[in-house]
Amino acid sequence: MRLACTSIWCDRVHCAAAAVAIAKYMRTSQLHLSTLKEVPAEAEIPSHQLMLRAGLIRRLSSGLFTWMPVGLRVLAKVEQVVREEMDRIGGLEILMPTVQPAELWHESGRWDKYGSLLLRMKDRHERDFCFGPTHEEVITDLARRELRSYRQLPVTYYQIQTKFRDEIRPRFGVMRAREFLMKDAYSFHLDQASLDATYQQMATAYAAVFTRLGLKFRAVDADSGDIGGSRSQEFHVLADTGEDALVVASDGDYAANLEAAPTFPAAAAPPSGNAALTRVATPGKKTIADVAEHLGVAAADCVKTLIVDGADGPIGIVLRGDHALNEIKAQQLPGVAAPLRMASDASVRRVTGAGPGSVGPVELSIPLHVDHAAYALADFVCGANDDDWHLTGVNWARDTAVTASVDVRNAVAGDPAPGGAGELALIRGIEVGHIFQLGDVYTRAMGASVQDADGKDSVMTMGCYGIGVSRIVAAAIEQCHDERGIVWPGPMAPWQVVLVPINQQRVAAVADAAESMYQELTARGVETLLDDRDARPGSKFADAELLGIPHRVVISERGLTAGHFEYRARVAEESEDLTRDELFNRLSA
Ligand code: ATP
Ligand code: MG
Repeated sequence: MRLACTSIWCDRVHCAAAAVAIAKYMRTSQLHLSTLKEVPAEAEIPSHQLMLRAGLIRRLSSGLFTWMPVGLRVLAKVEQVVREEMDRIGGLEILMPTVQPAELWHESGRWDKYGSLLLRMKDRHERDFCFGPTHEEVITDLARRELRSYRQLPVTYYQIQTKFRDEIRPRFGVMRAREFLMKDAYSFHLDQASLDATYQQMATAYAAVFTRLGLKFRAVDADSGDIGGSRSQEFHVLADTGEDALVVASDGDYAANLEAAPTFPAAAAPPSGNAALTRVATPGKKTIADVAEHLGVAAADCVKTLIVDGADGPIGIVLRGDHALNEIKAQQLPGVAAPLRMASDASVRRVTGAGPGSVGPVELSIPLHVDHAAYALADFVCGANDDDWHLTGVNWARDTAVTASVDVRNAVAGDPAPGGAGELALIRGIEVGHIFQLGDVYTRAMGASVQDADGKDSVMTMGCYGIGVSRIVAAAIEQCHDERGIVWPGPMAPWQVVLVPINQQRVAAVADAAESMYQELTARGVETLLDDRDARPGSKFADAELLGIPHRVVISERGLTAGHFEYRARVAEESEDLTRDELFNRLSA
């Protein structure tokens, strides 16, 4: 419960700026607090609803939000914890421009590749610029100018700065905004061992950030994306409403984003069945569910064949009927186009002779990738490459030319975990951080090298590390709320204590007691909000709960006469009557 400076320029725990900034907002009457009882119609998930209801943010336009005083206090706290942990591992704070020249993006090859997520603009001289969605290009340009010798390495730069990504579907408030606050760090190294060491330090620093903020989180293996690089992990705040599916092993620490979770073949060769290959009519049955029901079999006894675009024409991908395609895995398969595109109905018909609902692997002459689980079936059902017809009793070795299988599906609960670590379970998370070994993708493309110990030019190797500072605020609420409002983890709460005097406009003793307690708590460094509004107690209580302040103290005439204050923790069901000493002990703990 220490008074922490919220200024971005100050890292001291106590400082004058902190006192001023905090004092300014200590009385509710001065806050222009504007809370809403109704759930705003445009907000789908609890954090977005509560951030609007508690007046933490206000919407300007799609994906653009103003941080209001209370919200900004929370954001500043997150920012400060992130800054302290970056400083602790020797990160050098800088601030790069948000507007970036197109030339750098041409050098890296991303001007065309980044697509419409990149907000592009022209200056008065018709030169191209973009609003930075990330800063690999700018930092690599800085590094190639600043860093000359291996003696300057390793080095980690970081910034806490506004990003803009023209997201296809901005939604959930600041959770997926177009403009948002990110901490992005970039490290430069002479060799892989040095990159490994900094990457590991970052992972530890990230864990420290989320632990200090009081959040339940998980580090998971992540997809390294199409920019190469060998290692990548995401940090997820756990919440049932999270956008990302994660898998966790029942034994040990293994966890991965579903996108990146491998699945394994059950056996080296497929079993051989003994049913006869039979053509069956399936009029109008296009989906696996319809076909399975029509034939009285389980979806898991059918295979589905998807036709995707490839560099040299369409390619088939075969999955067990109840499994889902993993697009990231699919677009990494030989010949498959990235980003993944389903073939048009016309080209499906051209190469298979049927529409998409009746396609199968028997006598299909295009390249096929068969998933391990589909390859483990015998006597299965598939499309007959003839509209409204399917085949039953199909077996790989007897009826097709397929001799191998690949991993191209999403894992499901109960799948074996890698390394014999039991079974996988599925949970949901919100991605709040991402650390990434980039290798030399940018440094090579942009010519960022230093002289090594032998005086030879050596291209640097690089890591990049992001934290969604503003997303953390929403993620924390998503994880910690109840039907009455936000339940902040202590370190993120805008104030630790709210004092609620009852009838203080009419009872001088109540006003005096509240004022004196407010002064004393503040002097002790406890962040305290004094609800001095002339409002009904019920609405003050409701606001205190909506705002999620961890400790509430009610000061009433009746309590003062009896010599106690009514104390209630935000998470508690009941209030307790405490003497002044007991209260101070509790709040200073
Ligand atoms: P996502 O998969 O959620 O789109 P990303 O993987 O594209 O995110 P990164 O490039 O890894 O994002 O950016 C680093 C961090 O910035 C993410 O871990 C996330 O916390 C945050 N972030 C990314 N996009 C947004 C957004 N639109 N709004 C708020 N925070 C974001
Ligand atoms: Mg990411």
